[in-house]
Amino acid sequence: MRDVVILGSTGSIGTQALDLVAERRDQFRVVALAAGGGTIDLLAQQVLDHQPAVVAVTRAQTVQDLQLALYAQASRRGWSAGEMKLPRILAGPDAATQAAGLECDVVLNAITGSAGLVPTLTTLAAGTTLALANKESLVVGGRLVTEAAAEGQIVAVDSEHSAIAQCLRAGRAEEVDRLILTASGGPFRGRTRSELADVTPEQAMQHPTWNMGRVITTNSATLINKGLELLEAHLLYDVPLDRIDVVVHPQSVIHSMVQYVDGSTLAQCSPPDMRLPIALGLTWPDRIPGAARPCDWSTATSWTFEPLDNDAFGAVELARRAGALGGTAPAVLNAANEECVDAFGAGRISFTAITDTIAAVLEEHAAGTEGVDAGGAGTAGVRSELPGARHISSAQMDLDQVLAADAWARQRARALSGADAS
Ligand code: NDP
Repeated sequence: MRDVVILGSTGSIGTQALDLVAERRDQFRVVALAAGGGTIDLLAQQVLDHQPAVVAVTRAQTVQDLQLALYAQASRRGWSAGEMKLPRILAGPDAATQAAGLECDVVLNAITGSAGLVPTLTTLAAGTTLALANKESLVVGGRLVTEAAAEGQIVAVDSEHSAIAQCLRAGRAEEVDRLILTASGGPFRGRTRSELADVTPEQAMQHPTWNMGRVITTNSATLINKGLELLEAHLLYDVPLDRIDVVVHPQSVIHSMVQYVDGSTLAQCSPPDMRLPIALGLTWPDRIPGAARPCDWSTATSWTFEPLDNDAFGAVELARRAGALGGTAPAVLNAANEECVDAFGAGRISFTAITDTIAAVLEEHAAGTEGVDAGGAGTAGVRSELPGARHISSAQMDLDQVLAADAWARQRARALSGADAS
């Protein structure tokens, strides 16, 4: 029996994880669930289905709604008051972090965005295995996360990194030549930069092969998701960025590859279904029989590969730039992106302005200045004295500096995307 804590339980990854757990109650026990508070009815349903001892909501004002939803759903199920054991409810900005520190075998961090950073660090400090879907926490925290983790304590849930972990079992670290991350190319694959100028948020949400949450789906359309994954792979597997390639593979069946020094390349393939990497994340290094459907080899099929068009989709190169700067730069890249995704979704900026704005904020951070145009042409920047404005190297940075860089980048991205009056 494995005791699990699921952070982000109401999201795309969280609900699939709970489906897996529900089918295997003899193998898993849910100790705690955590969510933001945006989908209370679903959270209440999950609590009644899985009976965790603890439930955590970040937005404290939703606690009463959660209690009401629990009673209403219990009564709809015909449960008497005695049949329902109310969980302990944790509420507020630290609620998910408290849940992450509970005693259990594995914490699945499936929160979206840099809000997952402190829960990630808390899980690692508690000595618990971390099944990591929240790539942002690793990218943003960088060395702070990798140094907090014992060997093997972080198990990747991202399908690409799960694939790499599986392929890495075939050889020794010093035999690895390159990592090859596959990318579907997203809904706008094949378009030129000018053809991307007026695409809509609705079009960006039409991912060709994966059904995911709003932020990662938008990130897959700009390909900043692949940029974050590049940094994630570098941090997880300690392979230099210039030995990690990205190749477009529209079918999303090969999830990534490892090329060995003798010219052999190993690929992991399975139909696109996150239940496979989620299951591996919860039980690594063991496999769960029947976790997902395998490839069907009885029908003709073709898998294709093409190079990434960096002119149309500059986000992977931007991530390489942030990775080369290191330190607080990846936190700035990620925070600016999170704000731009919201601005694009709200119709305030165009699709191409997402990467343009991230680039501008990143360069301001590298220079320690403010005032560069989002278009990149640039007015002369003025030296910024705001906390978080200046780039801090990896060797020097601490958690407060990372959080300050995150907050500064959000403020700059909002200003450049017209959300703030400033
Ligand atoms: P969703 O948007 O579907 O779900 C996000 C979850 O996080 C929800 O449960 C949400 O709660 C919760 N949440 C958001 N903010 C907070 C917060 N501040 N505190 C606590 N909980 C919070 O996202 P996905 O499931 O798509 O993605 C989750 C993570 O997994 C991301 O990092 C993503 O990049 C990664 N990932 C996702 C994949 C996928 O297939 N979806 C594939 C690979 C990686 P509420 O509902 O209350 O708002």
